[in-house]
Amino acid sequence: MDRILNYIDGAFALPHEGRFLENYAPRDGSVYGQIPDSTAADVDRAVAAAKAAFPAWQALKRQDRAQYLSKIADGIEKKIDLFAEAESRDQGKPIHLARSMDIPRAVENFRFFAGAILHQQEKAFQTSPEVLNYTRREPMGVAGLISPWNLPLYLLTWKIAPALAAGNTAVAKPSELTPATAFLLAQVFDEVGLPKGVCNLVFGLGEKAGDALVAHPDVPLISFTGGTETAAIIGRRAAPLYKKISFELGGKNPALIFADCDLEAALTTTVRSSFLNQGEICLCTSRLFVQESLLPKFTELFIERVRQLKVGDPESKDSFMGALVSAEHLEKVQGFVQRARAQGLKILCGGERLAPTAALQKGYYFAPTVISTPDASAEIMQEEVFGPVVTITPFRDYADAVEKANRTRYGLAATIWTQNLETAHHAAADIKAGQIWVNTWMLRDLRVPFGGMKDSGIGREGGDYSLEFYTEEKNICLQLGRNRL
Ligand code: NAD
Repeated sequence: MDRILNYIDGAFALPHEGRFLENYAPRDGSVYGQIPDSTAADVDRAVAAAKAAFPAWQALKRQDRAQYLSKIADGIEKKIDLFAEAESRDQGKPIHLARSMDIPRAVENFRFFAGAILHQQEKAFQTSPEVLNYTRREPMGVAGLISPWNLPLYLLTWKIAPALAAGNTAVAKPSELTPATAFLLAQVFDEVGLPKGVCNLVFGLGEKAGDALVAHPDVPLISFTGGTETAAIIGRRAAPLYKKISFELGGKNPALIFADCDLEAALTTTVRSSFLNQGEICLCTSRLFVQESLLPKFTELFIERVRQLKVGDPESKDSFMGALVSAEHLEKVQGFVQRARAQGLKILCGGERLAPTAALQKGYYFAPTVISTPDASAEIMQEEVFGPVVTITPFRDYADAVEKANRTRYGLAATIWTQNLETAHHAAADIKAGQIWVNTWMLRDLRVPFGGMKDSGIGREGGDYSLEFYTEEKNICLQLGRNRL
């Protein structure tokens, strides 16, 4: 049985109270490991270690910090197969997906910020010949980093890399559902000789270990990726302590499919954007709005392709989708579909739990599901399902499409399918979402601002936006004399 340990002050440590949680394999529902059930005492130790490591780490030259980050990237890359297998076993996604997306992207996060920190610029304002203002960007101290289960290593490293690059030290609390690759990452830290205390990992439950991190007085900033409701709790805890906050939260992302789109491209990408990683990506499309004249044809071809998607063993090369992350999540997804059915909405395909083989009967598999609904206010179109379930709804014209797309509390991402530049341009402006893709999906450039509008988040991360978040900008106003020697 795999037993994960905390990583505090450069050493692997048992949780203070000696208690562990069970770790389940979504593939077959078995318990295959143990995770520390850490408490405030573990978080205290980790924060103390990070605080002690901060002065020396921030004093390092940027080039030296960048070198550590590059070494970490190389260390992960060397073990890419091990990381991919661990991510798949822990999360349920196909190994080939972890190997082609999650792990390379984690490597890229470290490489990207190793480079980015070398190019960060400060500003200067010449107020008058004798007065110069200039800015300094200073790291803030111990960064508190809290990440979710859907892209475990990818999203954790999206926080660790910029936090360390900018000169902070960190305490990270990965999701209790998917701790395996974070533990492997700690081993890489150890192997590359990252100075002790610079990055600490504390495993355990959100309401215990996570909460202790959020409430810790020596942690001045919190970067959180997870659910919108959790963010409200974290916000209430952090606000009286005046912490700097970044929230990357839930979504209910629309795809607007206009009649003049390139149908083949729209179909191929929308199948992927709906069901990749079992629909468990915050950027996945969950509401499809199709122009009335295209609706019958689009729906027929879409369903045909969705029926061909292979849901199967995450270890198999042929599986497009693996298992959902947990029994609880499977139940939640099933509940949404059952209620939609009970409300009289039409399930066009899927809608049921699957068992790819007899041996995998206890795994958490769910069929890719498409639901037809004319009612853009139905529960299934308002609440985040975060699984392999999408709705199809017709729209009449441009105004109808934009109104329906915006009829949600969320504003994370949207995709627009049209060959008309004006339609694309106006829709991109009119849709309230932080990330708009036109005729593509999830094409990422790590420099661009990433984040959500409305209840999908606060702040932006990516490139300079991350480096800004993980630093405090200070202005220095210099009065010069008139004398010249
Ligand atoms: P979650 O909010 O349940 O948990 C996220 C993390 O927060 C976990 O590590 C958890 O242990 C911790 N946590 C829970 N309660 C806490 C508390 N009271 N104090 C401190 N920490 C606490 O979310 P999840 O179920 O792990 O992830 C799914 C959600 O994440 C979805 O809503 C999804 O859309 C969102 N998400 C958003 C993005 C984005 O970039 N916007 C990316 C991925 C996932």
